[in-house]
Amino acid sequence: MIAEDEPALQRLLQAYLERAGFTVTCCGNGREALEHIRRDPPDLLLLDLLLPGLDGLSLAEQLRRERHALPIIMVTAKSTEADRIRGLEVGADDYVVKPFSPAEVVLRVQAVLRRVREGQPPSPVLQQGAIVLDRGRHTLTVAGRPVDLTPTEFRLLAALMERPGWTFTRQNLLDLVAGPDFLGFDRNVDVHIANLRKKLGLKPSPIRTVYGVGYRFQPTDP
Ligand code: CA
Repeated sequence: MIAEDEPALQRLLQAYLERAGFTVTCCGNGREALEHIRRDPPDLLLLDLLLPGLDGLSLAEQLRRERHALPIIMVTAKSTEADRIRGLEVGADDYVVKPFSPAEVVLRVQAVLRRVREGQPPSPVLQQGAIVLDRGRHTLTVAGRPVDLTPTEFRLLAALMERPGWTFTRQNLLDLVAGPDFLGFDRNVDVHIANLRKKLGLKPSPIRTVYGVGYRFQPTDP
């Protein structure tokens, strides 16, 4: 979302962000922006400091009071250090000073979103079609039916499902699933895969043999 009251600047930023693949909502008034965010929070807010209705700093403060976690990039003509510090104090993730290059703003938006996403723990649940592997609960269901796996089978399936369509060599899979407790680990990947296919009970099996190379998980339609 762009909260910016200068129409030309609003349009320019919107055009650049849309060209980079973002869906953009614009708002030229601080109070309306706040209402909109409460109703339908965006993934990120580009926030002009000087806005009619409610200024950018007060808007950011209000969002933090309401415990909105949305990332904010402050956009402003002010460039004094005090303003920058104030912006960062109310929880802005980044700060852009006018005049700016819109291409640079796009890069900043991408960087902040990447940072936010990397800070989130990966979902423990891997789902492909009917197969749901929950790494948190250590359970597997196939079309709702619980399936018991050995620890090795579980790790093999998780490795394959994490990168659907990716071809793993047998050695890749051994490295991924054996880990430090290699001792006493059955190195016969083919046997584990055969057992895994049998337990999944799907035809054709989503675990495909790539002849002369290894295996890959082929995503199926839900
Ligand atoms: Ca303004």
